[in-house]
Amino acid sequence: MRLIDADALMEYLKKMWSKWDEDDWYEAQAKDAMKDDIEIVNKQPTVDAVVHGEWVSEWEGLEITVRCSVCGEMALIKEGGSHDHAYSHYCPNCGAKMKGEDK
Ligand SMILES: [Zn+2]
Repeated sequence: MRLIDADALMEYLKKMWSKWDEDDWYEAQAKDAMKDDIEIVNKQPTVDAVVHGEWVSEWEGLEITVRCSVCGEMALIKEGGSHDHAYSHYCPNCGAKMKGEDK
C-alpha cells in the first residue's frame, strides 16, 4: 500500500486545470474526465497511518537523555527544571505513538 495526500493531489489538479482554456474542446473534455477521476479518488476509503515508536533512554555525557526511536528528538522535560523526562504517549515532534513507558 502506498499512502498519498489526496488533498495535495486535488490542489495540484485544480491548479493545473485552472490554466486550461474553457473554450478549447479538447481541454474541456480533459477537464470533465479529470472531474470523474477526482470523484473516484474522493470515494476511496481512508486509513489511519499510525507510526509506532518508543522512548529510548541513553547516557549522553553525564546526563541520561530520552529520545524518540522514530525521529530522534528528545522527550519533553518535566516542569521544575530537573532533567526528568516526560514519557508522553506521543512524540511531540513527529507524532509517533509510543509503546509503553520505557525507562
Ligand atoms: Zn518522534
